Amino acid sequence: MKELSKKMPLFTESVIRHMTRISDECGAINLSQGFPDFPPPKPLLDRLAQVAYEGPHQYAVTWGAQNLREAIAENRTGRLGIPIDPNKNIVVTCGSTEAMMASVMAVVNPGEKVIVFSPFYENYGADAILSGADPIYVPLYQPDFHFNPDELEAAFKQNPKAIIICNPSNPCGKVFTRKELEFIADLVRKYDTYVITDEVYEYILYKPNVYTYISTLPGMFERTIACNSLSKTYSITGWRLGYVIASPEIIDCVKKVHDFLTVGAASPLQEAAVVGLRFPQKYYDDLQELYTRKRDLFCDGLTRLGLQHTKPQGAYYVLMDISEFGWDDDNDFCETMTRKVGVAAVPGSSFFREPVNNLIRFHFAKSEPMLNEVLNRLENLKKIMQK
Ligand code: GLN
Repeated sequence: MKELSKKMPLFTESVIRHMTRISDECGAINLSQGFPDFPPPKPLLDRLAQVAYEGPHQYAVTWGAQNLREAIAENRTGRLGIPIDPNKNIVVTCGSTEAMMASVMAVVNPGEKVIVFSPFYENYGADAILSGADPIYVPLYQPDFHFNPDELEAAFKQNPKAIIICNPSNPCGKVFTRKELEFIADLVRKYDTYVITDEVYEYILYKPNVYTYISTLPGMFERTIACNSLSKTYSITGWRLGYVIASPEIIDCVKKVHDFLTVGAASPLQEAAVVGLRFPQKYYDDLQELYTRKRDLFCDGLTRLGLQHTKPQGAYYVLMDISEFGWDDDNDFCETMTRKVGVAAVPGSSFFREPVNNLIRFHFAKSEPMLNEVLNRLENLKKIMQK
C-alpha cells in the first residue's frame, strides 16, 4: 500500500492530551491539560437550557451567528478602542485551535517561514507542519523569558511571512510589555510581516501587569490576525468556541479556510455564549481576582515545599524545575509522578525547541480544595521521585 502523508511522522499526538489520558487511567489529579474544574457562569447555563428547546439546532452562518458576532464586536471595540465590524472583521471558529490553524493556512504558503518564540504552545508546531510553514524559533530566556532583540531581528532578516505571539504565554506565563510589543511591531513593519496572536488568556493577568493588544499599535491592525477563545474566559473549554479578528481582506481568506475545515462552530452553543460576551466589567475583574488567589495559593505552596518554580504574570501555568530529582527524561518523570504521586503534569520538553528536560508544567485552574490536595500530595514528591 502507498505511504500515507509525509507530514505524519513530523509531529506526534498532543503530549498535553496524552498526559490527560494517563492521568484519567490512574485516577490522578490532572494538572496537565489546562481547563477549569469549576462550572461556567450560571447565566450561560440557564441560557443553554433555554436554547435546548428554543434552538437554533441547525447550522449557523458559517463565519458565526450574527448575534454572537455582534456581541464579540461590541466587546472587542471596547477593549481595543478600534471599531470592529461584526460583518467584516470576525470569524467565529471551533476554539482558538481552529482559529490559529485557519489563520496560519490563510496567511502562509508552503515553504514560507514563521517566527515562533520558544517555549511555545505545542499546537504551533503542528500548525506550521500542516500548513507547510517552516518555523524559525527564537528563544525566550529564563527567568523572565525575555527575548534577545538582536536574535529576533536576525530571525526577521530571514524573510518570514509571520510571527506567532502567545500573550499571555502558555506555558511560561510571560506577559509581553508594551515596550517589547513596540519593538516587535517595528520589526513587523520594517520587514513587511504579519502577526498571528493567540490571546486566549488576555483576562487571566496578574497585577501589576497590563495587557497591550499589538493590533492597537500604529499601523498594526491591518497586519494582525488576532486569535481568541471563549474557553478560558467563561470556563467553557468543551464548547469549542473561538474567533479571529482581522482586517476585511484577511478575514475573507480566514472565512474560506474555516468554511471548508469545519463549516462552523456549534450553533446552540454560539447562541448560549452571547450572554457571556455581554457581562459587565465586574465579571472580568472577579475572574482576575479568582485566578490571582489560585496562583498565589499554588505558587506559595510550591515555595513552602522547597520546589523551584516560575511565578506567572498571566495565564494559569507554572513551570517547575525538576533538576534536583536527577531524572534524564521529563516524560518519564511526569508519567511516574502521575502514577506514584497522583498528580499529572506536562513534560516541559514538548514546549521547547531547545533540549530542555528539567521543567514540567502544572496548571492551576482548579478549585482551592483541589489545589490544597495537590500540595498535600506533592509533600512526598522528593521522597518518591528522588533518584
Ligand atoms: N490550552 C490548554 C493547555 O495548554 C488545553 C489544550 C488543549 O487540549 N486544547 O493545556
